[in-house]
Amino acid sequence: MLFFLHLYDKLPLPFFLSNAMQTLQNELIAKFSAHFGREPEIVSYAPGRIEVLGNHTDYNEGYVLSAAINYGTFFAVSKRADNEVHLLAGDLMEEVAFDVRQPIAEKESMWANYVKGCLAGLSSVKAPQFGFDAAFLGNIPLGSGLSSSAALETCATLAIARLFDITLPKLEIAKIGQKAEHTFAGVKCGLLDQVSSIYGEENALVLSDFRSFDIKPIAFPEDVCFLMCNTHAKHALVDGAYNERRESCEIAARFFATVLDHPVSALRDVSWNEWLRFRDSMDDRIARRAAHPIGEDTRVLEGIDCLRSGDAASFGKLMFDSHESSRVYFENSCPELDTVVNAAKSIPGILGARLSGGGFGGSAVVLVNKRDAETAAEAIRNAYAHQYGSPCDTRIISCSQGAHLVKA
Ligand code: ADP
Ligand code: MG
Repeated sequence: MLFFLHLYDKLPLPFFLSNAMQTLQNELIAKFSAHFGREPEIVSYAPGRIEVLGNHTDYNEGYVLSAAINYGTFFAVSKRADNEVHLLAGDLMEEVAFDVRQPIAEKESMWANYVKGCLAGLSSVKAPQFGFDAAFLGNIPLGSGLSSSAALETCATLAIARLFDITLPKLEIAKIGQKAEHTFAGVKCGLLDQVSSIYGEENALVLSDFRSFDIKPIAFPEDVCFLMCNTHAKHALVDGAYNERRESCEIAARFFATVLDHPVSALRDVSWNEWLRFRDSMDDRIARRAAHPIGEDTRVLEGIDCLRSGDAASFGKLMFDSHESSRVYFENSCPELDTVVNAAKSIPGILGARLSGGGFGGSAVVLVNKRDAETAAEAIRNAYAHQYGSPCDTRIISCSQGAHLVKA
């Protein structure tokens, strides 16, 4: 019995990892051992994420449905006797060394900044007493909208926190990753990526309320999954367009605060009926921008009802509506994303499709019956190639368990 308890303690969480993930984990441990001459003491894992419904709602204090995905990053670490940190990027086989007490962001080896930022965040909780050797390895395609950066931050924070004997609530781990990305990598991301990576559960979506930061799982039907279709499109002036959208939402919220008889501090406080009532009293562009996050909040709440009653087809329709709202009101779609979504409308087995993430290029997320996933992905690639000469990338995504320690 004692032996069993001991074994249980050492078993990976979850007990079952897919073969591909087990292979990746073994590969990382082999690389760590070959490079540093010993096995890692601690190994963690964090997945990437997809945004499923609730587009540009986070900074309007609204709702988002997202999911942790079946692609992720492993991070292995062992204590050192001195104050040095030796950090190995397993894919690149590139090593960076620095003092544990002074992690400083540098332009070379940008990847190291994500880990250094997390270390800086943890150091503000408890000053490090020793250095460490660390290595990481992942299978999330970088820069494809699946948030490899949040996965790296999250698995690094989990493993290093364990090494330093720091216990933190999940939301604090997410905030350390977000701050690392802001201040060490120079990317002003929201909190969705880290939250999804940490709170993800198998066969469930993550519902985040970006006002109360109440985050909970919503069961997801087992006979459907997602396709992520990366168009690789990148449109110019994205930063300017993004800032305009944020500013327009703020202007709209201020307008509604003056005309509604209840408090409005963000568009979250405005209902679709209120938008309909006042749209003609507003500047047309501001009204259209506001329609998107307000409509998205409504769709997320409707979507939860669909999921609770196991109605994946109605959930899919909400995804199509979400894309239409992006295209018409928020104007954050582009011809490449529209091509994927339009093709999806007539492919058997597909229930819904929309752009995922900031927009203006990048990836679309498609809801599909599991049994049709392969053929539907091929049909999307063909439709895209017909229009643009070469296919978009497609990947089958299932809702997966969030970040956890694998060896501790
Ligand atoms: P995304 O998060 O959508 O994948 P980002 O540009 O935000 O795209 O983050 C990608 C960056 O994160 C990479 O350029 C690299 O610096 C870092 N990164 C994440 N995972 C890894 C990894 N496994 N190996 C090396 N660098 C990584
Ligand atoms: Mg990122």
